[in-house]
Amino acid sequence: MAAVLPIELHHGLRLSGHPLWMDATRPQGLSFVSHAHGDHFARHRKIICSPATALLISHKVSRASLETHADRESFELHDLRLELRPAGHMLGSSQLVIDHLGDHQGRRIVYTGDFKLRASRTAEPADIIPCDVLIMECTFGKPHYRFPDLEALTSRLVQFIDQTTEDRAVPVLFAYQMGKGPEIAKLLDDLGYTVALASQVHTVVERYRELGVAFRRCEVMNGDNHYGKVLLLPPYLSRSPVLKRLTRRRTAMLSGWGMDADARYRYGADEVIPFSDHADFDELVSYVRQANPSQIYTLHGPPDFAAHLRSLGYKAQHLEPRSQLHLWDD
Ligand SMILES: [Zn+2]
Repeated sequence: MAAVLPIELHHGLRLSGHPLWMDATRPQGLSFVSHAHGDHFARHRKIICSPATALLISHKVSRASLETHADRESFELHDLRLELRPAGHMLGSSQLVIDHLGDHQGRRIVYTGDFKLRASRTAEPADIIPCDVLIMECTFGKPHYRFPDLEALTSRLVQFIDQTTEDRAVPVLFAYQMGKGPEIAKLLDDLGYTVALASQVHTVVERYRELGVAFRRCEVMNGDNHYGKVLLLPPYLSRSPVLKRLTRRRTAMLSGWGMDADARYRYGADEVIPFSDHADFDELVSYVRQANPSQIYTLHGPPDFAAHLRSLGYKAQHLEPRSQLHLWDD
């Protein structure tokens, strides 16, 4: 079978020879940006993304470069028909559906970007899209990454907060300001906690508010009297002077890497609770089973996952950086 669309991975994904990049991390003429995490975009001349992603990255790129498309609205670009579909990773996150107008066999490519299938309070629920070629992230593509369900994670978090407060200490949570921070803030806000946010998280929460997510008790961290509140900061502020002044505190890092035995030691936190905005091992396999592609390419994770898919009978290959290969080559 002839190669129809060669693909390459080098600081982003690209259909070789085609102007459209996906999540390019160096400035390009044209790139789809799947979501607002900083390692998925650069200052491109033209950016294709969802309206929510556009708002969340608008302070980092030129507004004139942003071309937004609503979910499930198909549009043509050069020789492609494209469609954005929700990815469930964070507010505004999208997958990209690519149909090549010149491909009369009608083979469909789906690029998932970062995704998860579990429910979220702030991200739109993900679609699972049947396709011929699936290009998927596999960050947590090892079998020990099976996250506890949301109820179990929430009760662990609540227990951590309540016990810390009962011991007259301040619970301090660490979560990235984009995506995870507002998600955890929303969860705790809905449960009735007063959450004091580092200004970096608060700025993003304000943007989420603009996008229609309601927060009632979230406030920006102010002064030194934090007793009775839950503090939420990005992980890089774990050694900030504000925290050093807080003599009675207990810290929890919120990360899917909490499934690793050495996570607490690695993060230097009192606890690591595995809240993640990525699919776990079972969700990755579940997406593949339901999308039922004839070819799978994995990226951003362990090569073992493609090997696992091959053991299940799928044609799967891991994309290493700088790899270039031809789709539909037999
Ligand atoms: Zn991400």
